[in-house]
Amino acid sequence: MSLDFLVQLALALLGAYIAAFWLALVVWTYRDIRLRSRDPFVQVLSALIVLIFGPGGLLVYFLLRPPESLAEAFQRSLAEEALMREVEDQEACPTCKRHLERDFLLCPDCQTQIRKLCLHCGRALNLKWKVCPYCAAEQ
Ligand SMILES: [Zn+2]
Ligand SMILES: [Zn+2]
Repeated sequence: MSLDFLVQLALALLGAYIAAFWLALVVWTYRDIRLRSRDPFVQVLSALIVLIFGPGGLLVYFLLRPPESLAEAFQRSLAEEALMREVEDQEACPTCKRHLERDFLLCPDCQTQIRKLCLHCGRALNLKWKVCPYCAAEQ
């Protein structure tokens, strides 16, 4: 075996390794961006940047990619919505601002009337409602 052959073999292996590494970077980037963006243009562009510039392109991708994945964004919007609903659910007495439960008829502190009972089915109704939404009886 000549030294030339060994050098050539080493270079070929190195080349194959770099090519595989390069390709792995592109595949990784494409998978990563698909979790972060639904826009096909953004997905292809991100993979192309890494394909052309390799590790340098990956660095650019890291700097520019959306900070959170679609799953994370979805989770966050759910949490925010739940928080909003909780705030909306909390009712306060118009007179004394005491916190009220959803089905209170009167404020337990100042006895302001909050709700009335349906004349027909007996469920708690908003004072302004002219008809019961549960049994359709007029009030
Ligand atoms: Zn009150
Ligand atoms: Zn009713």
